[in-house]
Parts: sequence; structure tokens; C-alpha cells
Amino acid sequence: MSELRLILLGAPGAGKGTQAKILVDEHGLAHISTGDILRAAVKAESDLGKMAKDYMDKGELVPDSLIIDLMRERLAEDDCKSGFLLDGFPRTLEQGKALDGLLEELNISLSHVVLVKVDDDELLKRIENRAAEGSGRSDDNIEVAKNRLEVYRQQTEPLVAYYADKGLLKSVDGIGSVEEVSERVGVALS
Ligand code: AMP
Repeated sequence: MSELRLILLGAPGAGKGTQAKILVDEHGLAHISTGDILRAAVKAESDLGKMAKDYMDKGELVPDSLIIDLMRERLAEDDCKSGFLLDGFPRTLEQGKALDGLLEELNISLSHVVLVKVDDDELLKRIENRAAEGSGRSDDNIEVAKNRLEVYRQQTEPLVAYYADKGLLKSVDGIGSVEEVSERVGVALS
């Protein structure tokens, strides 16, 4: 059984998604991306997708209760038993506390929380590049992307202190090539 039950934290544009893919491939973890789950729900026009779409298009967070219900089901699935990586969840302190309860019910605990750190100037540069290139995501225009960054600062960043207090936080410098950052993440997990 893998010992890795990770959260990957980082601002939008920090390169979290890229590092997540590398880690799940390397360690055979279940990759749980709430953003991917929500985008699939929007595409399928399911009830969840219909409830989430307007928030996502504005760069706002979907209500905690929807996300927590979704995660309660997802974490109970079999593939999570051999380790998982949470990408984009939790996004608020309330979600973080709810996650503690969900894990307790399953009798497991987190092994690491990895924060990919990138300063604001670099994040804004990346956001602008991504918007100009047109990533195909409907939430990737510059104003929406800046709002996502602001939402991160206000609602998600408090989780950094929350996990530092629990002794779980590992901070990694997110500036550099994909390989360099991945190497640092590997060191943080070893
Ligand atoms: P992401 O791909 O993780 O950046 O997520 C895209 C969008 O989905 C976000 O801007 C939010 O609108 C929504 N979303 C994803 N994960 C969460 C979450 N844990 N809590 C609330 N909203 C979320």
C-alpha cells in the first residue's frame, strides 16, 4: 500500500497540474482533481455541472457543500486505497476541516501537503501568457484569471498555515523548469 496521500497546494498558474500528473504517474496514485471533475460535469450537463458552471466561468469557488459531497463519494472509491493526490481540493478552510472528518471516517490520514510557491509577478506573467495562448478553458481570460488569484489569496491561502500547524506542510520553489520543480517535489516527499 502506498504511503502517499497528498494534497498539492498552489496558486492558479503555479504549475500544480503539471506536477500532479508527474506524481500520479510515478507513484501510481489516484489523481483527484475537483476542477477536472467539475469540468466533466459541466460538459455532461449533469445537475452538478449546471450548479457549478456560473461560479467556474467567473473564477469563483463552487459552494463548499457541493464539493464536500463530491469528495465524500470520491475518496471512498477503491482506487484511493493505494494512495491519492488531491489537486484543487481543499480550496477553503471549511473544505480542509471537512476533509479531516472524511479521512477520519475512512480511518486514514494525510501523509504530506506540498505547496508549490511562485511569486505574484511570475504568476501574473504566466496567467497572461496562458490567456493569450488560449488554453481552451472558458475561465482563462485575464480578468477571470486575476479573480482566481484573488480568490486563492483570500480563501485558499489560509490552508497553508492550517497544514503548517499540523506539521504536514512542505514548501517547494515553483520557479524553474518542470524537471527542476519535480526534482524539488521529490526531495520534499522523501
Ligand atoms: P481548477 O481546475 O482546480 O483551477 O478549478 C477550476 C474551477 O473549478 C475553479 O475556479 C472553481 O470555480 C472550481 N473548483 C475546483 N475545485 C474547487 C474546490 N475545491 N472548491 C470550490 N470550487 C472549485
